[in-house]
Amino acid sequence: MFEFVSVSNLSPISILREVFGYDAFRGPQADIVGHVTAGGDALVLMPTGGGKSLCYQIPAIARQQAGHGVAIVISPLIALMHDQVGALHEAGVEAAFLNSTLSSEEASAVEKRLLRGDITLLYAAPERVTTPRFLAQLDALHARGALSLFAIDEAHCVSQWGHDFRPEYRALTVLHERYAGVPRLALTATADALTRADIVERLQLEEARQFVSSFDRPNIRYAIVEKKDATQQLLRFIMREHAGDAGIVYCQSRKKVEDIAQTLCEQGLTALPYHAGLDAKLRQTHQDRFLREEGIVMVATIAFGMGIDKPDVRFVAHLDMPKNIEGYYQETGRAGRDGLPADAWMAYGLQDVVNQRRMIDESPAGEEFKQVMRGKLDALLTLAEGSDCRRVRLLAYFGEASTPCGNCDNCLNPPAVWDGTDAARKLLSTIYRVQQASGISFGAGHIMDILRGKKTEKVAQFGHDGLSTFGIGAEFSELQLRGVLRQLIAMGALAVDAQAFNTLKLTDVSRAVLKGELPVSLRESVSTPAERKPRRDKAGARATPPAAAALDAAGQARFAALKAWRAEVAREHNLPAYVIFHDATLAAVAERCPRTLDDLGGISGMGVKKLEAYGAEVLRVCGGMA
Ligand code: ADP
Ligand code: ZN
Repeated sequence: MFEFVSVSNLSPISILREVFGYDAFRGPQADIVGHVTAGGDALVLMPTGGGKSLCYQIPAIARQQAGHGVAIVISPLIALMHDQVGALHEAGVEAAFLNSTLSSEEASAVEKRLLRGDITLLYAAPERVTTPRFLAQLDALHARGALSLFAIDEAHCVSQWGHDFRPEYRALTVLHERYAGVPRLALTATADALTRADIVERLQLEEARQFVSSFDRPNIRYAIVEKKDATQQLLRFIMREHAGDAGIVYCQSRKKVEDIAQTLCEQGLTALPYHAGLDAKLRQTHQDRFLREEGIVMVATIAFGMGIDKPDVRFVAHLDMPKNIEGYYQETGRAGRDGLPADAWMAYGLQDVVNQRRMIDESPAGEEFKQVMRGKLDALLTLAEGSDCRRVRLLAYFGEASTPCGNCDNCLNPPAVWDGTDAARKLLSTIYRVQQASGISFGAGHIMDILRGKKTEKVAQFGHDGLSTFGIGAEFSELQLRGVLRQLIAMGALAVDAQAFNTLKLTDVSRAVLKGELPVSLRESVSTPAERKPRRDKAGARATPPAAAALDAAGQARFAALKAWRAEVAREHNLPAYVIFHDATLAAVAERCPRTLDDLGGISGMGVKKLEAYGAEVLRVCGGMA
């Protein structure tokens, strides 16, 4: 049962303030909470970090106070339920989970509490919810009007168009059929129209109200740099901008994950690998360390990240290009959930374009599906190659109009644009001549050597220095030509033959470029693309969270003391530190240096229960420092 019986029947806004310690709802939260609390069904589309959890947690508390019983939260992420429930306990809310990590004694204890009406929110995995045993318990609760709502988290798992299809989600229609009248709320961060329509149909939410938020994450700074020496570029980026910060580095292959993690460790960072090839226990250990310790860099394949609600991930870096904008946005969205400045950084190059194209071509899928995938890849390539605002393009992809953001690499350092049409024509005609002369195709390196007039062994061997195009592109740098090649491949004016050593082949579109009918416009390759001066005074100094960076020396000392105290408490409770207090809350405490519980209670993130449990301690830690 909810603990503040003395202040029962709180309104949603009072619950937000007293239980969670936040001042105001964000975006559409107020409308969603109002609608669901009143018993309506809803489909909520909100970007990662937008604040979906409160959309069901507050209605669950409000409805329980009004005598409607327990809320069932369906979540696919067994490994994270413990922390989510722990966070609710810290806020003074009775919550529990039922999943395969519990012993049968523990599970039956939870079931007893459930049937007694002692739980406000119960988290369960979809395969558990649809077992006859669990349904019988729900029946019993339903019979006495004690089911307050169903929240279906990560609802895109029901759709094969989403990126995490889980067949168990399909069985959730039983909820609607069996418990008509109990409000249902489906939530997802996947915005794509196809997936959305699929969720509505599969979960029979035709009557539900849809709440679509802006997908903008203004605190995330987007930057996409040209890959040169990706590992060194990554290292520089982390050392200059994010020394000591928690971050995620995405790589495509397991081997690369291992290699990069090792390299980062050799440079003195605490980096951990995560991929599906690691033993499940080790994966869990690495995930726990990432969540519980500070300043860990997780080097991972896309197997990592769903449901990770760590608020203080300061950067997400991509060393390989994802498949599409949905994936890119989902992954980068894991940065900066706390609303403080964060970076999304990607290095991409010719090889990425080639690899992604090849994976689509070689997949066993039907031609129609491949076309959809190619279209999605093209949208991402256009984003990477573009010289205009990244955010405008990202949001446009999700159907949202916006104006240049001032917080992406292209807005901050507008790149020069050059007309690559001439270079493109020279490249294509070289490929054409080589093919004619030798009867076979060659790869990008050799073609560029001919164009730039480099007499390599291979050039001599094939007599390609005798071609009319030999050396006609001597004025272009290799970097520029690589940019042109990327664009041509992205445009479909060049094909890469994966079966034949990645050789380059002309296509139907090539002719239009050769004739000068299709212009090729390119961003200027800068030698140090999109790097900016370090945010911190001493490069490499251990970073403090951005909000804390503004503190004076005494404030910094208080902040450090508060963090040390928090780490202690988190360890005792076996929870991640941010579940006790976010960095932003501690930074605010350190800044204001409150003297009384009343002062402390006004700080964001300081709910009634936390004030009661920790207020005196926090004042003591602060006072001891003053
Ligand atoms: P999502 O599930 O949509 O990715 P979360 O529910 O994890 O996002 O919320 C992201 C972060 O924002 C959390 O740390 C949460 O505490 C915080 N948050 C959510 N709503 C508010 C609010 N109204 N005021 C302040 N912080 C909020
Ligand atoms: Zn911008």
